Amino acid sequence: VPIERMRNFCVIAHIDHGKSTLSDRLLELTGTIKPGGSAQVLDKLDVERERGITVKAQTCTMLYNHKREDYLLHLVDTPGHVDFRAEVARSYASCNGALLVVDASQGVQAQTVANFYLAFAQGLSMIPVINKVDLQHAEPQRAVEQLKSTFELEDPVLVSAKTGLNVGGILPAVIERVPPPEGSVDKPLRMLLIDSWYSTYKGVVLLVRIFDGVVKQGDQIMSVSSKLKYFVGELGIQYPTEVATASLRAGQVGYMYFNPGMKNISDAKLGDTFCHVGKEVEPFRGFEEPQPMVFVGAFPTNQDEFQKLEDSINQLTLNDRSITIAKESSHALGLGWRLGFLGTLHCSVFEDRLRQEFGGSELLITAPTVPFKIVWRDIGKNKAGEDGPKETIITNPALYPEEDVVRTKVEEIQEPFVLATITVPAEPAEFLGHVIELCQENRGTQVELTWFSTQVILKYKLPLLQLVDNFFGKLKGITKGYATLDYEDAGYMKSDIVKLELLVNKEPVDAIAQLCHRSSAERLGRMWVQRFKSFVDRQLFEIVVQAAIGKRVLARETVQAFRKDVTAKLYGGDHTRRKKLLEKQKAGKKKLRAIGNVIIDQKAFQGFLSKD
Ligand code: GDP
Ligand code: MG
Repeated sequence: VPIERMRNFCVIAHIDHGKSTLSDRLLELTGTIKPGGSAQVLDKLDVERERGITVKAQTCTMLYNHKREDYLLHLVDTPGHVDFRAEVARSYASCNGALLVVDASQGVQAQTVANFYLAFAQGLSMIPVINKVDLQHAEPQRAVEQLKSTFELEDPVLVSAKTGLNVGGILPAVIERVPPPEGSVDKPLRMLLIDSWYSTYKGVVLLVRIFDGVVKQGDQIMSVSSKLKYFVGELGIQYPTEVATASLRAGQVGYMYFNPGMKNISDAKLGDTFCHVGKEVEPFRGFEEPQPMVFVGAFPTNQDEFQKLEDSINQLTLNDRSITIAKESSHALGLGWRLGFLGTLHCSVFEDRLRQEFGGSELLITAPTVPFKIVWRDIGKNKAGEDGPKETIITNPALYPEEDVVRTKVEEIQEPFVLATITVPAEPAEFLGHVIELCQENRGTQVELTWFSTQVILKYKLPLLQLVDNFFGKLKGITKGYATLDYEDAGYMKSDIVKLELLVNKEPVDAIAQLCHRSSAERLGRMWVQRFKSFVDRQLFEIVVQAAIGKRVLARETVQAFRKDVTAKLYGGDHTRRKKLLEKQKAGKKKLRAIGNVIIDQKAFQGFLSKD
């Protein structure tokens, strides 16, 4: 198929608007998969099936006959969620057009807006598709008007991906309205690395888009950035599973293995350009490496399982290099890992998978936090005569400087902000009021408020720290699930941040410490001491639980000591019962940790850190 008869397009939509279902229908329609086969062919990861969301961009090639000519269509199913924006942006780079899918019963939602602008900025030709017209409460006409008033998009295709109604109208629209890829088979090879993952049987798999030239098995190619050379092993298209072909040509998207295989998946730099050895080409403008913005600590309750936890984490991060990993040692929780994620959904999806994969005894996961920027005062040269660093980013509260250092050496502390887009139904009117209130309580500043017939689109500048504190759950709660949210980075801004610590008999419990805004410290502190008290067993002496900023105590609770008769009862009794108790204690020993003079069962931390 010549390049004029190729089309590369993606499907973009708000979550649940029917991207994956529609993709399946298109694959059936072109005979790529059998009708009625397994649903959601492109959602390959278990987590995608379970959660019903697409996490990694998935691709599939289709052959389609239009007006008696064969077309090679290449479909990319992109993640709808904002956490995976980098993944989305990369897949857009391989496309010339996009189907913008909108649910006829829901209309334009936050991720529709965000994804539209991402695709628009990339210059993609947009074909609006209104899906779920079969639903009784569908209002396709309203969605048509919304698409026109919000995005100036006209001539939508009205379909039902579920029943298949009018799905046949989509591909002719793609062929007529999406331009073919640019490029030439006669020019030297210029190939973009879009994605890569690890296959247990075959090693590192690369997903590539050929812009110019032809690449064949056995060719020697080179990474323009690292200058590392490789021989092409197998290559081919995803149809929908890997089908080997003799070559990949300008315009095509396909998979590739090197022979010998790439040793490290980290050598596959996404956005890298490849060329034939000796025929160097201009590299593509690299993609921005996504920065992790949400961090948690993960500790095994039983320290004997540290290695097992490490194995589980390594296994799960093989195919997701956006997760950062570092060893962490906590006085209270022992050895564990500090993990960094792109966003809150990314983090919670991983947590679920880790609990499944780890399978061992319980796992302790600390409350999510964000990076903070410490701007140092100009303190002149250091001992080596160099200027010291002016800024440090810390992703762990344990790295927060001591109070007197903050007072004397720190100019200011900054926290990351986001620009959030929220959509709320205009009726009932109190929804909007609730949402504005929620944003204000969370230190938000309104940037924009726009009405679109039945919908209000709000833009707020919000601290990311507030967002990781179940903001989305609260937003859904106050709008009966109707509001939607999407956000983008808005940089660091100066903020009044303090380190809140939990003290047990005056000893800080390191893993629980958090950096928070001064205005929320007291409420959080009070909640902490009450919660911690409720999970700690009484001991032979009184335990004082405090929440403090430096030396200033904000909240305090006391766990009373056992009364005498209770202990007497414990140690009295017959011989066998006593032996049993001692054995039980021995078995439980591994899970006990000392905070100062207080021995605390890991169950207390587990209870404290659990989300209910
Ligand atoms: P995605 O998150 O955009 O990939 O959405 P899915 O394709 O997973 O669809 C979300 C839900 O909507 C699923 O339960 C689908 O069965 C359902 N759905 C998708 N298309 C239609 C449609 O045309 N009509 C109806 N009634 N339901 C649909
Ligand atoms: Mg999906």
